[in-house]
Amino acid sequence: MKILVINSGSSSLKYQVINMENEKILLKGLVERIGEKKSSIKHENGTSKYTEELKITNHEEALKKVMNLLIDPQYGCFKSLSEIDAIGHRVLHCGEKYVSSVLIDDNVINAIEEHAVFGPLHNPPNLTGILAAQKLMPDVPQVAVFDTSFHQTMPPKAFLYGLPYEFYEKYKIRRYGFHGTSHKYITIEAAKMLGKDIKELKLISAHLGNGASLAAVKGGKVVDTSMGLTPLEGLVMGGRSGDVDATVPLFLLRQGYSIDEVDNILNKKSGVYGISGISNDMRDIEKAIKEGHKRAQLAFDVYTYRIAKYIGSYATILNGFDALVFTAGVGENDPEVRKTVCDYLGIFGVKLDDEKNISLNRIGGIISSDDSKVTVMVIKTNEELMIARDTKEIVENQKK
Ligand code: ADP
Repeated sequence: MKILVINSGSSSLKYQVINMENEKILLKGLVERIGEKKSSIKHENGTSKYTEELKITNHEEALKKVMNLLIDPQYGCFKSLSEIDAIGHRVLHCGEKYVSSVLIDDNVINAIEEHAVFGPLHNPPNLTGILAAQKLMPDVPQVAVFDTSFHQTMPPKAFLYGLPYEFYEKYKIRRYGFHGTSHKYITIEAAKMLGKDIKELKLISAHLGNGASLAAVKGGKVVDTSMGLTPLEGLVMGGRSGDVDATVPLFLLRQGYSIDEVDNILNKKSGVYGISGISNDMRDIEKAIKEGHKRAQLAFDVYTYRIAKYIGSYATILNGFDALVFTAGVGENDPEVRKTVCDYLGIFGVKLDDEKNISLNRIGGIISSDDSKVTVMVIKTNEELMIARDTKEIVENQKK
């Protein structure tokens, strides 16, 4: 079975084709700056790379371009598009409506649309990608894989906010959690790496990318996670504030900032970027620290402190943990962040092997010392593969 995975963002479209017989990537690519003056395509199929700069007005046009590349004799992997068995789409949010991945029909489309209030930056472009794919490949089964699904096992004491209960009943305001596909992949891979049954494992998964979240996973089920109703809550991120006193946005509104301005401040102008005043990228922050930039150091300190504080609270609710896994852009590539976080965790018996922390950077593996009570690991996340696996399972079950 060959599956096309689509991750459609507000101005981008990421895609991969995966051969599910061996889970190998046949080709992948990225269309960026859709709708702007100069869009770009970066595409590769293992033997040839293709790049182009051109104007692409919308997601349908982008997908048409991608489809031509899929069947291109040099850059593609198919003779005909009929060789695509299924399409898996990454979708941010469907609230409590769908607790696992689902074959897309009109009800699913309506639900994604309805939940755009909770995911205004992601749900609409996710849907645009789905509609474009349906239009261009109407006979191919399409599956929605939600970022929230893996977290649906959280108990009410973890997902409820301390707000009047009626807001949960009326508006479904609660913690949902995101990066679920990544946390699920990490859980499966960590169990494999440790040679342990998932059911026996208590782990904390740290997905530290531009967006960042932690999940506390017991026996393969999420018991708590740091993101909330939207991907804004929890850790201090590249440009997002993470936890703040809920009065802060109210204060800013009373100061005369508009709702959109406050939204933009909390989601884009805060976090590492907001504190340092220079960048949301940890590479820039660490370079600036070396040059003596004080606010870059402050941003790094706030960022790592918040991660450690959350891990401490998850260690408590898990009643101890066997493994801590770092993943995503920062987690996979940044020994300094991993070391600083782990230095806080001595109380739990976490001991990093400083050499392995550096030598296994980017590669992945176990980076704790042999006498560490908790196994610390670096695992490269693979959300696309997780989406493809879910898609395969759903499409196969459908045929039965
Ligand atoms: P996204 O959340 O957009 O999917 P990624 O998981 O790809 O992002 O993470 C992107 C972030 O990873 C960058 O903004 C940067 O902070 C960080 N990053 C990438 N490479 C490195 C590196 N070599 N060292 C430190 N941080 C890195």
